[in-house]
Amino acid sequence: MARIIQKYGGSSVATLDLIKNVAKRAIAAKNEGHEVVVVLSAMKGETDRLIGLAKALHNSPSPREMDNLLATGEQTSVALFALACQALGEKVKSFCGWQAGIKTDEDHGRARITDINPSRLKTELAKGRIAVVAGFQGIDRLGDLTTLGRGGSDTTAVALAVALKADTCEIYTDVDGIYTTDPHVCDKARKMDRISYEEMLELASLGAKVMEIRSVELAMNYSVAIHVRHAHSLSSGTLICEEDADMEKTPVRGVTHSVNEARITLLKVPDQPGVAARILSLISKAGIVVDMIIQNKSVSHDSNGQETHLTDFSFTVPLVDYGKTMELMQATGQEIGAEKILGDDNIAKVSIVGVGMRNHAGVATLMFQALAKEGINLSMISTSEIKISCVIEKKYAELAVRALHDAFKLDQSA
Ligand code: ASP
Ligand code: MG
Repeated sequence: MARIIQKYGGSSVATLDLIKNVAKRAIAAKNEGHEVVVVLSAMKGETDRLIGLAKALHNSPSPREMDNLLATGEQTSVALFALACQALGEKVKSFCGWQAGIKTDEDHGRARITDINPSRLKTELAKGRIAVVAGFQGIDRLGDLTTLGRGGSDTTAVALAVALKADTCEIYTDVDGIYTTDPHVCDKARKMDRISYEEMLELASLGAKVMEIRSVELAMNYSVAIHVRHAHSLSSGTLICEEDADMEKTPVRGVTHSVNEARITLLKVPDQPGVAARILSLISKAGIVVDMIIQNKSVSHDSNGQETHLTDFSFTVPLVDYGKTMELMQATGQEIGAEKILGDDNIAKVSIVGVGMRNHAGVATLMFQALAKEGINLSMISTSEIKISCVIEKKYAELAVRALHDAFKLDQSA
């Protein structure tokens, strides 16, 4: 007998028929002799619908009221799921986050789970019931409902897997696993059988949408393997787990792109200590997160042959913060001593990811060659241990993804 967590996302419980289907899937697991805890998202579109209602009444709704509102989405799903199970003659009980013992901090809208008391769930499992828990929510010290941030049901599932010492944590979704790249962009994309936590984190933060980032971090910290599977097919899915020797044999395992950033360049600012700190502190004070940063020194000579040390300073910010960042820079650029401020929101970031990069040489060269062959110009480059990203013109994003997928032969299994 194993203890299994099964999480179904919004698209997997979008209609009553789909809810019946996933109920059958949970019951089948229980009939194989397992203890089953189900975690559900709100029905597809429901969270967005609720946000729309709130915004129609108030242009900046209170986070506490938003949480009371949004928590109803998942509450509806679990009650309907329980009724579907009961209609099939199955013993089941549904739980809101607080009833399942999920405690969080008070940070409404993006609360963190601080503690889980799973005793109630354990009692139900011992009685031979399926327990179905509302994802994405908990209760804070004051007794107020909280939500964990978009995609937070994944975190609920992993956190329950930790608290209940589950044998398996299955995340059911509308794709059959994690792919080498987005199959909508590249038809040679291949489903991977296994991917390491670190690779998944890079891919998730770079734009791959399947898993919520926090849940993968939590799984990595507690060594919980996550099994990503299609909710309505029996295909074998992808295991997100510790890296192994096989994964290290291939330098690159995934390609991803994002078109959600913009670049800002301050031309010819004085090359002095404190300039970068000044620029970036202005931006961070506005709550804007900077991604790539590049600085290039240059020396200019005036008519008397006097040398001035200058630098061009470029960075990227999320596209949604582009306007605000430009305003900030226009306002203070002169004070900082910049000659000119340039902005470009017509960019894309393409990235290659793989734990094998640590011990393979020539990966960056192959990447740059593949992009050059397509006539794609690189305007920024950044690297980490297991990732290389390039900023290019937006219109080339998908072409770049396909070129890199081919160059690193990602359609061939490792
Ligand atoms: N319902 C929430 C959302 O749409 C949480 C989740 O589905 O994981 O983001
Ligand atoms: Mg999700």
